[in-house]
Order: sequence, then C-alpha cells, then structure tokens
Amino acid sequence: MTGGGNWTWLLTGRIPTLIDAGTGHPRHIDSIAEALKGQPLAQVLVTHAHSDHMSGAPALAERMPGARFFKMPWPERDDRWPAPWEPLAEGDRVDVGDTSLTVVHTPGHAPDHLCFWHDESRTLFGGDLAIKGSTVYIPAAYHGDLAAYIASIEKVIALEPVRILPAHGTVIHDPVPVLRRYLLHRHEREEQILDLVKQGVETPDAIAAVLYHGLSDALMIRAREMVGAHLIKLERDSRVIRRDEAWHMIKP
Ligand SMILES: [Zn+2]
Repeated sequence: MTGGGNWTWLLTGRIPTLIDAGTGHPRHIDSIAEALKGQPLAQVLVTHAHSDHMSGAPALAERMPGARFFKMPWPERDDRWPAPWEPLAEGDRVDVGDTSLTVVHTPGHAPDHLCFWHDESRTLFGGDLAIKGSTVYIPAAYHGDLAAYIASIEKVIALEPVRILPAHGTVIHDPVPVLRRYLLHRHEREEQILDLVKQGVETPDAIAAVLYHGLSDALMIRAREMVGAHLIKLERDSRVIRRDEAWHMIKP
C-alpha cells in the first residue's frame, strides 16, 4: 500500500535532522548512521502518525541516543510508538541542518499531518500530502477528512512551491499544476457521487462498485473509504443526508 516504499529525508550540517522516522528497519538505520559519518543525529521530525512514517521512532531513539523527536500531537495515536515526543504546531520554525524550516499543518490524510517548508528554496517536505502519478488516500473511518485535505492543498498552492519532496514516489517538480489537478479530481468525483446518489445508488459500497469497478478487494476497501470521505464532506456541505447506511439528496 506504500507503492515503492517510503522515503525519509536526512538534512546534514550543523543540526543533523531526519524527516520521518521510517519503520525501524535495521538497514535504514544503518544507512542513516553511515550518512552521518559519526556525527550524532540531533532530531527527527515526523510528518504524521501512520506506521510507515512513525513506527521507526523507538528503534531510532535506541540507536541514536540524544536525538530529539518532534511531531504534532495526536494523543490517541502517539503512544503506539513511544519516543520522547515533543510538540510541533503550525508556524513553528525549526532549525535543521544549516538552515531552518517552517511547520505547515496540513490535515486531511491524517489530523496531525505536517509539511515542512523551506522558504529560501521554496521546497516543501510534503509527507503524504501529494504523490506523483497518484491521488492521496483519505481514510474516512480513520480520521481522514476530505474538506480539511482540500483546504490543505489550497494552503500549499498559496505558498507557490517549486518542488515537493514526498514520502512516497519521486520528487514533484513544479507541483502547483499537480495540486490543482488534485482539486479538480476531487471536484469531479464529488459531482459523480452526487449524480449516483441522485439516481438512488446510496451506499458507499454501491457507489464504489460503480466508480472503481474492477479493483482488487484490498483496493476496494480503500475506494469505499474514499467514497465515505466524499459523503461526509457532502453532508457537511448540506448536500446529502445520511439515514442508517444510505445517503440521500437534500431537496432544495
Ligand atoms: Zn500516511
């Protein structure tokens, strides 16, 4: 489910900093140690509390004594991977390497999702905000929030980034058109879902079966979650209403 795996970003210099903790695989930690050439790792900044970004924190804390660990708090989740977590919040500036980054809260994919912005180079460390050649999964039943995600994309477009260094997939150069396509794609999906609800296709299962026809079972679970995320947004926009498992149009 993570495509070709996931990236962590090591910023060397005066304050060696790792962005995302990975999964604690010994080979990953060995290659970080090698790149540090004997310098101690100063800190780890985690983009969000999904296992592929955070679960390596305990192993890193053990192998890199003295490293500090930062993320935006998500109290129900953060205990899962114990490390001496310190809080980050929107707008914080963090000294990293030989420069500094600004914390940008970008909820949607996860409520605690952060990106890290380097103003001088207009580069965004994007976590799971954007994946080249793919859309981003919004898990409705696991604290995903599509309206928040759309607002986060708009917030990042306003920064006018020239590149995004993501946690999955290749570097996204000239990301604004990619982000705009995400918004367009979400808008089109929303219209398709509204049309189906209008025609009496009223459950996430039935809607996903039409929109994502032919997916494997594992991917269909995600497709249903995406449809659920859309329906929750549409309900908040007062365009549909939920009765038990079915969703209905709100008559004007
Ligand atoms: Zn994630």
